[in-house]
Amino acid sequence: KPAARHGAVAVIGLGRFGGSLARELVKHGVEVIGIDISEEVVSEHAEVLTYVSRGDATDETVLRQIGIEEVDRVVIAVGSDLEASILITSRILKLGNQHIWAKAITEPHAEILHQLGVKNVVSPENDMGRRLAHLIKGHISDFLPIDEDFVLARTTPPVRVADVPLASLGLRTEYGVTIVAFKRDGGGSWDIADRDVTLYANDEILIAGTPRNVETFSELDK
Ligand code: ADP
Repeated sequence: KPAARHGAVAVIGLGRFGGSLARELVKHGVEVIGIDISEEVVSEHAEVLTYVSRGDATDETVLRQIGIEEVDRVVIAVGSDLEASILITSRILKLGNQHIWAKAITEPHAEILHQLGVKNVVSPENDMGRRLAHLIKGHISDFLPIDEDFVLARTTPPVRVADVPLASLGLRTEYGVTIVAFKRDGGGSWDIADRDVTLYANDEILIAGTPRNVETFSELDK
C-alpha cells in the first residue's frame, strides 16, 4: 500500500485521457497514484507514476488498498464504460472522498455524475469539439469557455471599432461584449484594454461575453 500523502492525486483509468493527465501532473511535481484494470496499461505507467496498481476500481477493497480516502483529489477517467464510471464514483463518495473530478462521455452521463454529487464533471471530447468549431470557422483564433454562458475569445477588431477610443464605442450596450486586452500590430505583449485605448485593424484582441455575443462580435465586418 502506498503512503497516500497530502497533495497526492489518484487517477483511476489510465487510458488516453487519464494517462496523459497523470503524466502531466507528475511533470508538475504532483504525487500520482494510478489504477487501471489492464496489466498492459499498468506496466506502461509503472516507471512514470509514483505508484500504479492493477485492479478493478469498482471493487471497494481495491480502492481502500490504495488509500483512496486519504488522497487530496481523485480523477475518475474511466469514460467509455458507463457502469464502471458510475460504480467507481459512488464507491469513492461512500468511502468519504468528495474531491472528485470525473470524465463524462455523453450528456446523460454528465448528468448522472452531477446527480451523484460530483462537482467537477469534465467532457474533454465535447469541450474540444466546441472549441475547435470556433477555431475552424476562422474568425476566432483561440476560444476558452469559462462557464456555460461566459467565454473568452481571441480575434481581430471589427473595422467599425478601429481608430476610435474604446470609451466612445459603447460596446457593452451595443454588442454585450467587453474587450479585455489587446496586442498591438501582431507583436509585442498583451496590454489591458483601458477605456482610452484606440485599436487598429492589425491588432489582436481578447474579448469576453456570452458565447453568442462573442461569436456575433467576432464576425462583424469580416
Ligand atoms: P480514453 O478514451 O481516455 O482512453 P477509456 O474510458 O476508453 O478512456 O479508458 C479508460 C481506462 O480505464 C482504460 O485504460 C481501461 O483499462 C480502464 N478501466 C476500465 N474499467 C476500469 C475499472 N473498472 N477499473 C480500473 N480501470 C478501468
